[in-house]
Amino acid sequence: MNGRVLRRAGVAAAIVLVALAPLVLGKFAVSLLNDIGIGALVALGLVLLTGIGGATSFGQAAFVGVAAYATAWLTTAHGVSPWLGLVFALALTGLAALAIGVLTLRLGGHCLPLSTIAWGISIPLLFGNLDALGRHTGLSGIPPLQIGPWRLLEPRAIYYLIWAGVGGACLFSRNLLHSRAGRAIRSLRGGATLLASVGADAFGVRLALFVTAALLAGFAGWLYAHMNRFVSPSPFDVRASIEYLLMVVAGGLGQVAGAIVGSGLVLLLKNSLQDVLPLLSQRGARLEAVAFSIIFILLLHHARAGLTGFVARWGRQRFADRIEPAHDEAAEPLPRRPMPERGSELLTVVHAVKRFGGLVAVDDVSFDVRAGEIVGLIGPNGAGKSTMFNLLTGTLRMTSGQVRFAGHDITGLAQRKIARLGIARTFQHVKLRPRMNLLDNVALGAHARGRAGVLRAGLRLERREERQIAAEARRQLERIGLGGRAHELAGSLPLGTQRILEIGRALAADPVLLVLDEPAAGLRRAEKEALAAMLRRLRSEGVTILIVEHDMDFVMKLVDRLIVMDFGSKLVEGVPAAVRADPRVQAAYLGGSPEPYPANPEAAP
Ligand code: ADP
Ligand code: MG
Repeated sequence: MNGRVLRRAGVAAAIVLVALAPLVLGKFAVSLLNDIGIGALVALGLVLLTGIGGATSFGQAAFVGVAAYATAWLTTAHGVSPWLGLVFALALTGLAALAIGVLTLRLGGHCLPLSTIAWGISIPLLFGNLDALGRHTGLSGIPPLQIGPWRLLEPRAIYYLIWAGVGGACLFSRNLLHSRAGRAIRSLRGGATLLASVGADAFGVRLALFVTAALLAGFAGWLYAHMNRFVSPSPFDVRASIEYLLMVVAGGLGQVAGAIVGSGLVLLLKNSLQDVLPLLSQRGARLEAVAFSIIFILLLHHARAGLTGFVARWGRQRFADRIEPAHDEAAEPLPRRPMPERGSELLTVVHAVKRFGGLVAVDDVSFDVRAGEIVGLIGPNGAGKSTMFNLLTGTLRMTSGQVRFAGHDITGLAQRKIARLGIARTFQHVKLRPRMNLLDNVALGAHARGRAGVLRAGLRLERREERQIAAEARRQLERIGLGGRAHELAGSLPLGTQRILEIGRALAADPVLLVLDEPAAGLRRAEKEALAAMLRRLRSEGVTILIVEHDMDFVMKLVDRLIVMDFGSKLVEGVPAAVRADPRVQAAYLGGSPEPYPANPEAAP
């Protein structure tokens, strides 16, 4: 039995259990399962937002509240159908999340979680102070849901709607995570620079994720209001938000199923604590908060992966080698961009300057690169080569100077826009997603070649495009010699191979200009030769390459032209033989480089 079959069997068993449960359980247990289902919907949003996207929200219960109050108010004050209430609730929750997201998601570090506490507190306060919302007494007399002739009054009746919702939401999330948008979401923790290097906008991705999580909370809030038929502010306060976070931590931060498991664990525990604590002390309710805090801290310290995390790791260890790569049905290749005419002017850097405070890292450097060339940028450590690459890819802003690329003035243009024009890069310090497999890492590079967003991905309406991207990623993996290892995790590769994988990701963008920062570092000799052969092949296909490399033998044999930098300035430029003979270059290298040239023993022709 392989992992895929086991997983499917697990899901099928879970569906059967969920379907049969109300037939054998009593009313109280079914009510508890309803609460667990509603909690799971909110927790699912947090799995995506916090567990996978890395943005902690202490205010998720407020979104549940916005939706619950929205439908409660509309259906009681205006007597409309709860289904209209659903539309209104989701619209209001989505808009609230959009507004809050635009205001807060750019905040870095701890500012974002702190700001979530602020709105997590203030929104429920608002509920408690608006006359139209019944102040602290809340709103009652909310109509039950009705599907055709069935009024979902009984816990058993609404049970199936709730759990169908949970199933649908899990499926949506799973589809989303295995899509173009999902790869971007899973890469958020890798930083904005990584995403921008593949043409994605980290802020936009995070905002879409934030709204998605809020809509899941909103759906839960709508169910909550029509199940309990009464709303008041307290179930939506910060304490409730923290409970939702606890669910995600207990269930498994990175797993869709963790939302259900976590909601079950926390609500069952809460229930038993409510039975037990009053026996120990009269202040049972307060003790509950203490008990939860202790459990929270213990989990964060000792079991960050949560329950499903353990299961997933066990499954991977046992079955990873047996997972059959899914073969994509023949997919039409992604469209390619036109290559510039060989020898035409492609990249022009004019008087580039970059200052870091008092340090001038790049000092008035000008050069150009013609289409179809391989140009090497060399120089001792600290010469300013990586900084130069960061300037021309838009990763860093230039202090002064100009860069033109393929007829566009790209000076000061956003990094992701430059990437979309056809400059793909690798990083001196690799930026891969270690917990994503090789295929997904490379497919991330093709981000700008697809269009489908969160909604289409979740509903699986983008399968054609996704197959094309997967096929492209496979092709690039073959090209870099890692075709057989598509399903291994990137983090398990040796560092040298990770650099090669980054080249694969860059190639998936269908680049006009490939910018490689020390791609051969950490490679063995045979691997370096394979890399050089691949880069020559790319050149013959019309790709232009700009490369920083310390291995002189490698560089001299590969490049058409060399630019030498030293102390931020351009020292020399020319064909390898001329540069090699230049006394200034020899002086610069003998003056402190870790790898002096031409004393390299491998350099002999
Ligand atoms: P190279 O890639 O040629 O080894 P770098 O471009 O990385 O050199 O660095 C050039 C100089 O700029 C170094 O002195 C380095 O310390 C400095 N530098 C690079 N990036 C930054 C930064 N973000 N902030 C401050 N100084 C930097
Ligand atoms: Mg460098």
